[in-house]
Amino acid sequence: MKHHKFPNDLREEEVIKDIICLANEDPSVAGIMIQLPLPDGWDSRELMELIDPRKDVDGLTYTNIGMLWSGEAMHYPCTAKGIDYLLHENGIDFAGKHVVVVGRSDIVGKPMAAIALENNATITICHSKTKNLAEHTKMADILVVAVGKPRLVTGDMVKPGAVVVDVGINRTENGLVGDVDFDSVAEVAGWITPVPGGVGPMTVAMLMNNVARALDFMED
Ligand code: NAD
Repeated sequence: MKHHKFPNDLREEEVIKDIICLANEDPSVAGIMIQLPLPDGWDSRELMELIDPRKDVDGLTYTNIGMLWSGEAMHYPCTAKGIDYLLHENGIDFAGKHVVVVGRSDIVGKPMAAIALENNATITICHSKTKNLAEHTKMADILVVAVGKPRLVTGDMVKPGAVVVDVGINRTENGLVGDVDFDSVAEVAGWITPVPGGVGPMTVAMLMNNVARALDFMED
């Protein structure tokens, strides 16, 4: 692994040059990811689009997003892929289920919805402008919450027996908490992921999995 450390006064062009010349062209580099957020004024999309989609281990280039919605992405965004893996390994199938995703970010909400749809779920995507959030969450067989608001979803918003996946990571005075009020939701849900220790480690594992996939692309 090569670690390139840059000074604080770095100019954007230097990163561009680094990505194109060093990483894209370097046959010893399997995967490239840009750790967001970038400094104010930087165009993250412009930089992202410079990444060779085969090396886009975050699955965030337009090529991979388009392929994701066609059901054949080269790389799936790591958190959504991790949730898919977690559910599958626990015998929870998307097929025929009503999956409600709260949050529509490019890195979690939208790819989660795409993966659930591809696996034959019926999907609802809720966001900051959704009215009567609880009306939607109560209909979920599988509820995925990725918002960034501590304990937004409470027990009275969940259908009895539902599968609840808490993606949120919120730092509070009482430590890390999710977007789901674990205690009240655990009383109603049939299955629930904790924070910390639920989705987070899966994201890291799936990043490694994407790097392994990228290595395969290089050998093709
Ligand atoms: P984001 O800020 O990009 O998106 C938040 C989404 O929540 C938006 O789509 C917004 O419309 C929606 N939203 C805001 N308020 C809402 C409300 N009251 N009701 C319904 N929807 C509302 O966030 P993100 O990058 O998707 O991350 C969401 C959370 O997940 C954060 O806490 C983040 O730290 C966490 N996260 C965890 C992992 C992990 O590996 N566990 C990975 C990525 C993000």
